[in-house]
Amino acid sequence: MLSILLVPALHDNYIYLLHEPNSGETAVVDPAVSAPVVDALQQQDWQLDYIFNTHHHGDHVGANLELKQLTGCKIVGSAADQARIPGIDITVSDGDVVKLGNQKFQVIDTPGHTVGHIVYYGADSQALFCGDTLFSLGCGRLFEGSAEQMWHSLQKLKALPAETRIYCAHEYTAANGRFALSIDADNPKLQQRITQVTELRRQNLPSIPSTIGLELATNPFFRADNVSIRSNIDMTEQSDLAVFRQLRLLKDQFQ
Ligand code: ZN
Ligand code: FE
Repeated sequence: MLSILLVPALHDNYIYLLHEPNSGETAVVDPAVSAPVVDALQQQDWQLDYIFNTHHHGDHVGANLELKQLTGCKIVGSAADQARIPGIDITVSDGDVVKLGNQKFQVIDTPGHTVGHIVYYGADSQALFCGDTLFSLGCGRLFEGSAEQMWHSLQKLKALPAETRIYCAHEYTAANGRFALSIDADNPKLQQRITQVTELRRQNLPSIPSTIGLELATNPFFRADNVSIRSNIDMTEQSDLAVFRQLRLLKDQFQ
């Protein structure tokens, strides 16, 4: 069993505390800042053992050194990015398995947002901690990698079981939904999801977790092969990759 605690931070970040009760081990995914993490640990009476980082951006590693100093936790991050992840102790690469008590997490390389971006997939817990690669109704901006790299990264996530819960690092769903609707307006599942998200956000509740199944039905970056999206952006004949690249560009320009 795995307990997952969502901790909001900064403007729209989510930090996740993972706790495996048999071993008592606890990890935090992408601690942007330390104060809400320390508060949550105290409230739950959990001791921090690990930081799991997805990538090197400040809103994901910002509290690494402070939490390490406070708790003596070990920091796990991509071998490819060890020079950019503060305090890194354990370097991992694609296919490696990270353990938290009896819970295993598979490391999957997902370059695109950054070149060293990784995600943590828990087959036991049916949970994916995907940082800034996949968002609900969206995907990360291409700061370092190419559209092709991001496309291949998203293909790996698409192939995970539909029931996998998606724990991304930002609450971007409502804004992503506005873009999705602009190119996929007739999709009833998208309309339903946006209605649901609007209500959740109105109550100041998270729209996370989503699931792979829900994203397959609603996320335009998972739907480059969709006939009506292609027709809406005048790209009926192009490759899925070309459509994805164009969708990413359109999203960057979308107000
Ligand atoms: Zn980022
Ligand atoms: Fe971020």
